[in-house]
Amino acid sequence: ERKQLKRLRREPSRTLDGVDIRLWANAESREDVAEAHALGAAGVGLYRTEFLFLGSSELPDEDAQFHAYRDLVLGMTGRTVTIRTLDLGADKADRTGLTLDYEPNPALGLRGVRLSLAREALFDTQMRAIVRASGYGPVRVLVPMLSSREEFVAVRARLQRVVDEVREAGFEVADAIPLGAMIEVPAAAIALPGFIRELDFLSIGTNDLVQYLLAADRNNDALGELYTPLHPAVLRLLRDVIRIARLRGKPVAVCGEMAGDATFVPLLLALGLEEFSLHPATLLEVRRAIRDCDLGGLRARAGALLRARDRASIEQWLRQAGIA
Ligand code: PEP
Ligand code: MG
Repeated sequence: ERKQLKRLRREPSRTLDGVDIRLWANAESREDVAEAHALGAAGVGLYRTEFLFLGSSELPDEDAQFHAYRDLVLGMTGRTVTIRTLDLGADKADRTGLTLDYEPNPALGLRGVRLSLAREALFDTQMRAIVRASGYGPVRVLVPMLSSREEFVAVRARLQRVVDEVREAGFEVADAIPLGAMIEVPAAAIALPGFIRELDFLSIGTNDLVQYLLAADRNNDALGELYTPLHPAVLRLLRDVIRIARLRGKPVAVCGEMAGDATFVPLLLALGLEEFSLHPATLLEVRRAIRDCDLGGLRARAGALLRARDRASIEQWLRQAGIA
């Protein structure tokens, strides 16, 4: 069984009817990056930078961050890496004094891009480090917890200014650094048609999207099955986001835990998804699931999936999809 899976390291993530699905890795440690590379990941689709800030009570300076990002870029030997700007706050509390000591409702508080935009020096330092790393290989920048067009436009302007400054200072900088957004706040998903033109790519954060859409804490075990992507509202929103992105020719991935669960592969393929970003630990299982899928058949059954009225009918659809 394990041996069979291992053989898939050098095989494409291709459906039975010949469509290549892109598998990116979620990676943060050196080990993750090495594993992602060895398993044939297309690149790193989500590099969470929080861990640089969570370990100690001191902030990492520009050089410390630059070294981490450069090592990531070099480790992937020319495959694209997607660096997410700081997503502190809520479940990612820090000891550096960056986040507020007390928030009545931290999940709805000053977190993600909101914190970055409120702490100018902090954000510029991180952007400079990322922009310097772009001189060593292809880098994309991903903005977490976006809730409005304005926030994205503000980040774009800051990035452009930092690029100009870093070039001016004599560092090598990539010709283009694509800037994309996490779609994980329901408002951003719903308002997307109004600002998708600003985005170079999208990554759907189902961990938070599910939490905010269903008003169900992602870390509260007491909620049991209330926290689940198998809800008709989640599927419809995913379908809408993926459809708009594809219509506009913008790359779109899912980077929440959902993308790393092989049982959900037929569902995500039926909704039109062609890029997954997941931890290397389950990459081969997901690849195997993809290789067992007939994409045409699944897309033909997307209507039935979207008509499902409850969790039981969605699970029924999944069972009929045949794998897992
Ligand atoms: C998500 O919200 O789905 C996500 C990928 O980001 P994080 O789990 O870091 O919040
Ligand atoms: Mg998130």
